[in-house]
Amino acid sequence: MLRPLAAYFKVLFLTKFSDFALAEPIQKRVADGGYTTPSPIQQQAIPPALEGKDILGIAQTGTGKTAAFSLPSIHHLLNNKKRAGRFECRMLVLAPTRELARQIADSMTGYSKGLGMFVTSAFGGVPINKQKRVLERGVDVLVATPGRLLDLIDRRFLTLDKVEILVLDEADQMLDLGFIVPLKKIVPMLPRQRQSLFFSATMPKTISQLADQFLTNPVQVSVAPQSTTAERVDQKVTYINQDDKQRLLKDFINKENPDHMLVFTQTKHGADKVVKNLMAVGIHSAAIHGNKSQPQRERALGDFKKGKINILVATDIAARGIDVDGITHVINFDMPNVSEQYVHRIGRTARAGASGISYSLVAPDERQFLRDVVKLTGVKPEVIALPEGYDEPMREEVPARIYGQKPKKFGAKPTRSGGPKNKHSSRKGRPGGGSGRGGPGSSAKGDGPKHWNNGAKSFKRRQTRKADA
Ligand code: AMP
Repeated sequence: MLRPLAAYFKVLFLTKFSDFALAEPIQKRVADGGYTTPSPIQQQAIPPALEGKDILGIAQTGTGKTAAFSLPSIHHLLNNKKRAGRFECRMLVLAPTRELARQIADSMTGYSKGLGMFVTSAFGGVPINKQKRVLERGVDVLVATPGRLLDLIDRRFLTLDKVEILVLDEADQMLDLGFIVPLKKIVPMLPRQRQSLFFSATMPKTISQLADQFLTNPVQVSVAPQSTTAERVDQKVTYINQDDKQRLLKDFINKENPDHMLVFTQTKHGADKVVKNLMAVGIHSAAIHGNKSQPQRERALGDFKKGKINILVATDIAARGIDVDGITHVINFDMPNVSEQYVHRIGRTARAGASGISYSLVAPDERQFLRDVVKLTGVKPEVIALPEGYDEPMREEVPARIYGQKPKKFGAKPTRSGGPKNKHSSRKGRPGGGSGRGGPGSSAKGDGPKHWNNGAKSFKRRQTRKADA
């Protein structure tokens, strides 16, 4: 009992960066960066990391975890002056997305400015030979996505033999993106003698099993359980028909005139469609998703950061590494089918302790997703009624949407086979296909005539849109 208490009070007293045993030049970089007080994850993680211990960190984006693992690592690299040999790196940071890899590399470059440290990043979408030329000289820090890392190793442009520090960031997202196999391939390539720092926003069993493979006697540090973000964000929700979402989004933008708004769609095609439809009504926005080239993504992100555009439409994967402070609104144009993703999304507007607004547009086949989010976060979003002139969506239960499956033609027969398996827990054991309910013209409790009309209207809208396409 005494030990945890002592540790607790030790952490409480670490209120300045100068309380850490960080090398003087690093302290200076931190001060230059305008950081005065270490964030809770920094208070907990920096001291044991400086002692060379492995860390298992449960922390979300926005908690300051990049500095939590970067500062003690830079200290170590600086204190143990060695030169990385050809095609070697001394510290390897694995990140799930290009954007996050770039963002971490940028932060680490800033934290180690003027210290003679060479930081680089490697991810797909950039010519591999360019990365080869950089790695040939040997680098202190390499921040990479798992796929490109393995590619570099396969081509003998990189060896992990001399890695002293390994960081695995956003492990839960790695798993979501299917990086478990590449990660398992990477583990045996690393030297046994190393320090490993492992971070994840959530710690389900699969992640802790993965952590076991990377870590030895780790010190566990944890901040901001998921509900904390959810509590900070002013969450709102409107129940609406899918076909009306675009119109409501437009009305919302015109009314709120948001400064920095991030709109999430579940698919790349959906993101492009939202941008196209906003353009059609004179609202300027840009999309960022996996089908966009690296320069296109960077341009969109740059324009958004500079305020040249106020609205960025993104898929979850692309948005993962977006580090923009001051996002005022997060819109769930489509509800995510994985509840944790909702927390990541709305967390974009609550970075570095800020608060913001999230607004979810929930179609009848997304209600189950919302229920699961409420179960996870324990926070019920405020329900905002539809403005006048919108058809009320059906109230009756409809099967949850399955992403990756082509929308069924109106009147199509129900199917039991379903599309790709959806990760949503609540979907387990349900038949895969739609039931035929929910299409235009379907009758909802006692208001048959109204819905027949509504159905005809939205069917017509769809036809018009088809003709436009
Ligand atoms: P991260 O969770 O690492 O993505 O950091 C979120 C944001 O917090 C970034 O914009 C950092 O620059 C900022 N940040 C990190 N540590 C601190 C600190 N101690 N004080 C103020 N801002 C910080």
